[in-house]
Amino acid sequence: VSLCYDELSMRAKSDFGGLRYYNTDVDRRFRVLFVLGGPGAGKGTQSNLMVENYPVVHFSVGELLRNVPEGSPHKATIDQTLVAGKIVPVEISLSLLKAAMEDARQHVGAHALFLVDGFPRNYDNLAGWCRVMNADAVLEGVLVYQCPLPVLQERILQRAKDSGRADDNLESVKKRFRTFERETMPVLDALRTAAAQHNSTKQRYAVIDIAGYKPLEDV
Ligand code: UDP
Ligand code: MG
Repeated sequence: VSLCYDELSMRAKSDFGGLRYYNTDVDRRFRVLFVLGGPGAGKGTQSNLMVENYPVVHFSVGELLRNVPEGSPHKATIDQTLVAGKIVPVEISLSLLKAAMEDARQHVGAHALFLVDGFPRNYDNLAGWCRVMNADAVLEGVLVYQCPLPVLQERILQRAKDSGRADDNLESVKKRFRTFERETMPVLDALRTAAAQHNSTKQRYAVIDIAGYKPLEDV
């Protein structure tokens, strides 16, 4: 996978007494961290904690999809896809995400990091991101919450008691796990490979693995 960094990222690098630094004042692109991990790994919970402690804004693509109003032409597709534990076509998810990010930009400073939670989930998502967002966004890193399957299952079934989510039931959960293993894990591998391959003259991002099975504050 090529994450096609353009010339702009070079222009945004400034020099101060031999020290290169990233000048966020001249670069109006979104600074993005992807937040990934299995269903129930703590992406949303930890992102909310980060919002309280750091200059970051949080976008859960799953939440954006769940909040699509009745009457939207995509509503039926979205609802069916979520219950089946599958992945919505990127044209739908990314247009929601992009609109939310553009809306938020008016309210946050140039230095804010945009946490993109639960995306990209498959190659369709990643290719769509490259196509649509590469000119407008810089990928600064990927946070990966690692958590064993039995813990994930237990957490989601706990959450199911009051989440009200149509996909928080054992049947959907199993399908979501399968989708995670078959479609999201390969994307994670691709993101790792791309992070390792970019040489120092290009924008480099980090993939950071986090032990997500520990208590909330420890994580
Ligand atoms: N989803 C999707 N595309 C995305 C993000 C989410 O299709 O980019 C769908 C997918 O069906 C997923 C569901 O939304 O299973 C819930 O996603 P969310 O990230 O909210 O679930 P979590 O993994 O946090 O439990
Ligand atoms: Mg979530």
